Amino acid sequence: MSNTIDTVAALLRASPLPALEARILLGHVLRWRRTELITRSDEPLDLALVALYRALETRRVAGEPVAQLIGAREFFGLEFDVTPDVLIPRPETELLVETALSALEGIARPRVLDLGTGTGAIAVAIASARPDAQVWAVDRSPEALAVAARNASKLLDAARPGGSLRLFEGDWYAALDSNAALRFDVVVSNPPYIASGDPHLSQGDLRFEPRGALTDEADGLSAIRAIVAGAPVWLTHGGVLWMEHGYDQAEAVRALLTAHGFSEVRSERDLAGIERISGGRLAAA
Ligand code: GLN
Repeated sequence: MSNTIDTVAALLRASPLPALEARILLGHVLRWRRTELITRSDEPLDLALVALYRALETRRVAGEPVAQLIGAREFFGLEFDVTPDVLIPRPETELLVETALSALEGIARPRVLDLGTGTGAIAVAIASARPDAQVWAVDRSPEALAVAARNASKLLDAARPGGSLRLFEGDWYAALDSNAALRFDVVVSNPPYIASGDPHLSQGDLRFEPRGALTDEADGLSAIRAIVAGAPVWLTHGGVLWMEHGYDQAEAVRALLTAHGFSEVRSERDLAGIERISGGRLAAA
């Protein structure tokens, strides 16, 4: 413990964390914006707040994700609540949202389904960009659905023509069994696609995220198989399915889509140049 007066400048100098992470945690504890962290960097700080910051810093050093420590992560320009019950939204998943939004162009009052919604990031981002879209979101975790519901009410206009997010608990399409007549223009999913033995599961942020959101406890493709196999029943004729997947799964996912009667099957690369999402169109009967 130093006997100097604690200021933002002193705490940042002494922090074992990367400067950006230390600033995010400090800004969160002090409720200061980034510019205030600069302009007020020599102001003596309240001791209780310093203690709070130090506690978060210690937890971050032990590996807890920044998004969980501050309870939030930005995705598609929206600030989502994040808890340990949900996958932390990733920037590469914005590609899935953008691709779904392109598929919805020209369809009035489209119906969209997000399978395994977690934070609700994908569903809420689509609903936010397309106020007329009716968006269903499914998760088997009630804790995750509570987070998604909070994000939807925080981030979506209550008066949007498409209505609020329709949340259902259950496994993939089975969650919608009571709505068996529904058909969707677009189905999207960022399912658990990491193989059970993948060493990444015991590294970095992933150690603190719900294991069921990351891995199928099998070869990494079993959730994707279930989603592809069930899609034809739930899509409109000409409806499209897009899924996120692992860096080495694109070819296998395209083969699954083709085998289940999809046309226009293709993959899109993320900003790192990796084929990150694959999808196709259910041929009109
Ligand atoms: N994109 C995540 C990761 O590799 C995995 C998310 C998922 O399984 N859907 O860290």
